[in-house]
Amino acid sequence: MANEINNFQEIISHCKEYGYIFQSSELYDGLSAVYDYGQMGAQLKKNLRDEWWKSMTQLHDNIVGIDAAIFMHPTVWKASGHVDNFSDPMIDNKDSNKRYRVDHLIEAHAETLEKTSAEALITEMDRLLASDDLAGLKTLIESNKIKCSISKTCNWTDVRQFNLMFSTQIGSVAEEADTIYLRPETAQGIFVNFLNVQKTGRMKIPFGIAQTGKAFRNEIVARQFIFRMREFEQMEMQFFVRPGTQMEWYNFWKETRKKWHESIGIPSEKLRYHDHVKLAHYADAALDIEFEFPFGWKELEGIHSRTDFDLTQHAKYSKKKIQYFDNDLNSEGKPYGNYTPFVVETSVGLDRLFLTVISLAYAEEKWNKEDGTEDSRVVMKIPAKIAPIKLAILPLLKKDGLPEIATELMNECKQHFHCFYEEKDAIGKRYRRMDAIGTPFCVTIDHQTKEDNTVTIRYRDTMTQERIPMSEIKNLVQKACW
Ligand code: ATP
Repeated sequence: MANEINNFQEIISHCKEYGYIFQSSELYDGLSAVYDYGQMGAQLKKNLRDEWWKSMTQLHDNIVGIDAAIFMHPTVWKASGHVDNFSDPMIDNKDSNKRYRVDHLIEAHAETLEKTSAEALITEMDRLLASDDLAGLKTLIESNKIKCSISKTCNWTDVRQFNLMFSTQIGSVAEEADTIYLRPETAQGIFVNFLNVQKTGRMKIPFGIAQTGKAFRNEIVARQFIFRMREFEQMEMQFFVRPGTQMEWYNFWKETRKKWHESIGIPSEKLRYHDHVKLAHYADAALDIEFEFPFGWKELEGIHSRTDFDLTQHAKYSKKKIQYFDNDLNSEGKPYGNYTPFVVETSVGLDRLFLTVISLAYAEEKWNKEDGTEDSRVVMKIPAKIAPIKLAILPLLKKDGLPEIATELMNECKQHFHCFYEEKDAIGKRYRRMDAIGTPFCVTIDHQTKEDNTVTIRYRDTMTQERIPMSEIKNLVQKACW
């Protein structure tokens, strides 16, 4: 198919036009970096979440799922390090009042320089960031005469750390002790429930705990649509292993997660690994699975070997013993006894996965018809397995008993998968609308159906049509969505 393009702005408009994603509170001019999923988007998101949940819990005997609350005891975030360390260095321009993440400001400037100077600037920035030298970062910005993109001046405030956690008050009295946070990740809900789940589920190491849910980060530089949001959803799994075996499991999850992305239709060449060079203090290995978004290669999922850091921290702050009694192995094959398990984490953003799927699916196609004239369409080639609507049922005319037959088929199929019924407009127009929504199959009921019980099925991706018995439709769609 000629002339396929993939334009990010057009994807964003398309998502709005067809009920996938709306700006939050659009009626009041919107809330920055917060989005609502519409009737199509909510279903696609649910299908992705369900696929992940199934692959993690149902298909792994040793992984169970939980649903921990968003609000947690404030000490959780002290223990995890988020109160003290979950921050980005920021700087404000005094003339425009625009706030920048220091690393983004310097990196953008580096892009305007020739290679050697750019590398020297980034190396110096990394050194200052690693040593938390905020004054040094300000000097670096000033000595390189880095300007604000709005005011075009170098009139900067001091650099300061800006914590990304949202806080709120619990209870009626607004005292410091009542401050709690909206969780910036779901992982801590898993760590604090490690013993509960291990004991009640009689889980034996190695085992995992999975969870999906909302997370909140007061991102300063929030752009690129749903790539970086202030309220988003994570799908995380913490895998608890024997100390010393973490690299084996890290490699296992690295492979397994990439294969999973491929299983939902992301081509292998659009995915790559990016090993972290600078590791967080608690990690002994970390990598991102990156996807080639319309704006470049970016993190889709993180795989982290977190050692025993989290459980040890929670044991320390809660003054409780958080250990596992391993009655396997020995003599001299080791364990046999108590230890703090090591953790390998897989963490993928559901919204980023959604963006991945739609940016791959969106296509504008043009072609020449047999009579030489040009035709075109916008189509969302979402894999059938995750498409919000699987089948459109379209009576050719709104009379002659055709709607009745269509309704019968609808009633049969909707028990098994999402269907869409439409009887208005010319059939070609209805097909185009279904292409734009991403419905993989359309079925048309016409006068011949009344005679021989056959229907026309039209395939979204190829636009080919064939006549088949109506009784085969349900199985055909179910098979394609399996
Ligand atoms: P980034 O470097 O892009 O800010 P991160 O390294 O902070 O991401 P993690 O803390 O590892 O991200 O979170 C795990 C996953 O959660 C990420 O791989 C991403 O898919 C998702 N995620 C993180 N922050 C956001 C956000 N603000 N909006 C949407 N998804 C996010």
